[in-house]
Amino acid sequence: MISSIRLYFFGTGGSWPTQFRNTASIGIRVGEEAILFDCGEGTQTRIMKSSLSIMKIKRIFISHFHGDHFLGLPGLVQTMSLYGREEPLEIYGPSGASTIISDLLSLGYYSLSFDISIKEMHDGTTIDFGDYTVQSYRASHPVPALSFALKEKDSFKFDEEKIKEKNVPRKMLEKIRRLGEINIEGRTISIKDLSSEIRRGRKISYSGDTRKDAHLIELFKDSTVLIHEATGEMSLADKVRAYGHSTGRDAAEQALLSNSKKLILMHFSPRYNDINPILSEAKQVFENTEIANDLMELEVKLSEV
Ligand SMILES: [Zn+2]
Ligand SMILES: [Zn+2]
Repeated sequence: MISSIRLYFFGTGGSWPTQFRNTASIGIRVGEEAILFDCGEGTQTRIMKSSLSIMKIKRIFISHFHGDHFLGLPGLVQTMSLYGREEPLEIYGPSGASTIISDLLSLGYYSLSFDISIKEMHDGTTIDFGDYTVQSYRASHPVPALSFALKEKDSFKFDEEKIKEKNVPRKMLEKIRRLGEINIEGRTISIKDLSSEIRRGRKISYSGDTRKDAHLIELFKDSTVLIHEATGEMSLADKVRAYGHSTGRDAAEQALLSNSKKLILMHFSPRYNDINPILSEAKQVFENTEIANDLMELEVKLSEV
């Protein structure tokens, strides 16, 4: 079971960094380890200003290879190496990630103190990390791009009556908890057969760069927090969508249709100093909407599921 889940907004702007916003990067501390969704330029200096240790980052998920989503990677990796990191680092990305990331990490002269594995994810890929999974769906953007959802596993409470009723040996319970279901002498027994209360896990979804797309509703379904790009306001909707992006209102419609609990907007065009017009258009559709700012941190509580 995961003790706590905390979100860190390291970069909340789109396209290029400004005085006030770095480009896209979100940290999620899941219990004792942390992951990143995207790693825009300057991510490492933002991490240093936050309460998250750089060494806790175990996996990095890159949504796509536009500069505002990945150019922070070589700097971050080289710093980790200078710190003498030994723990392996996992990097995930869309089609082409293996070549692009290998090329990127071979820049310049340095020696890596730890192993890096690079894996490509596709539409519908789900990876199981023990206490949680990360799933990717194809996003609607002009280059290969992914949206992600991190889902804490549901937890179950065994019910003594049901265990007796199904006649399941006690020594098998731990195995059932771990695997979800097992076969006992020809009978398939699942954890749901033996449990009464089910605590649903927290779910954090991240759009990356995308147009509003019905395909993504399934990925975002029942998110505790949906972090969605909102590049511009409705008066520029045609242009925003033509470049494969969303307005704040588009993001809000995705939150509503996916039955998400909270929406956090980010990836604003550098043209905006004042984000309030984007926020108010979104709130007309989905009231529980907030703007992300760099260095904002947020605890995702179990009670919010
Ligand atoms: Zn972008
Ligand atoms: Zn992009």
